[in-house]
Amino acid sequence: MDNNDPKVTRKIRKLTMRIDRNLCIGAATCIAIAPKAWALDDEAKAIILDTADQESDEALLEAAKGCPVMAIFLYDETGKQIYPA
Ligand code: SF4
Repeated sequence: MDNNDPKVTRKIRKLTMRIDRNLCIGAATCIAIAPKAWALDDEAKAIILDTADQESDEALLEAAKGCPVMAIFLYDETGKQIYPA
């Protein structure tokens, strides 16, 4: 799955979120916080769901912050990395 795959990198409103699947350990914290944005695939690594836009920006940020291995990256509309800051 490459970085352009919408399961890996997706624009939600003004936020772009990206998952580094090499870092993901399948802890599922992101899913507990924002269940419409994330799921585990059959490799037990997180993917971005088509319903991710149903989660608020705040929930997406909290999910990124909750990831124990900081595998979720968020960028603003200019491409600036918001998290991890
Ligand atoms: S919280 Fe982090 S490690 Fe856990 S499933 Fe989500 S992205 Fe992967």
